Amino acid sequence: MSWQACVITLLPEAFPGMLGHALAGRALDEGVWSLDIVALRDFGTGKHQSVDDTPSGGGAGMVLRADIAAAAYDAAIAAHPGLPVMSMTPRGKPLTQKRVQELADGPGVIVFCSRFEGIDERFYDTREVEEVSLGDYVLSGGEVAAQVVLDAALRLRPGVMGDARSGEDESFSAGLLEYPHYTRPAEFEGHSIPEILTSGDHAKVEAWRQEMSEQITRERRPDLWEIYKKKP
Ligand code: SAH
Repeated sequence: MSWQACVITLLPEAFPGMLGHALAGRALDEGVWSLDIVALRDFGTGKHQSVDDTPSGGGAGMVLRADIAAAAYDAAIAAHPGLPVMSMTPRGKPLTQKRVQELADGPGVIVFCSRFEGIDERFYDTREVEEVSLGDYVLSGGEVAAQVVLDAALRLRPGVMGDARSGEDESFSAGLLEYPHYTRPAEFEGHSIPEILTSGDHAKVEAWRQEMSEQITRERRPDLWEIYKKKP
């Protein structure tokens, strides 16, 4: 069965967005994965199908109502039983390549995009949701974040990326950042390609790439380097 993506959003027209292009877009057309949109507005109340209200205790912004978020969640779960549910929020656990790989290996994911100040806390008290963050900065809505999660997972699915190998020795898959790449022309503004790469000696190329990966990781991401060093 194809990998299922379900997105709960106030902006259905934002999808498939980037995911309708390039590799993910082709795979969507081919049925390698499916996309179901649950429109939050459909669960809104009153004449304007409103989904938010002012924050209890005062303050700026609006809060997504728990009853409405829960109704949309329940509908998504009913249509896609067994899928994990992620809610995009800056207070969530930062997304990692490891988690993305687990998602890609599973049946799919339901992603809840919120807006405004976020969702009434009682939604989280009463529903099983994994809160996920893209990083320590604030976006205006979860839609872009949801597309990031789906893009990262989809490219690991069989039938999405052209050359399956290119997913294997990338940044993070071995706990290191990737080595530098080169292609023609042989000379660019006085800079040539490192000789080893044109030597045809595969063992030497591998050793050089490993060394560069380690050097770059050590310099740029001491946090990753510490973890890598401790690996058996
Ligand atoms: N008041 C909130 C920010 C709301 S931003 C706070 O201070 O935490 C509006 C929405 O954008 C969020 O509900 C979330 O869905 C999305 N969003 C913003 N930043 C994000 C991030 N770093 N990672 C994932 N989603 C994010």
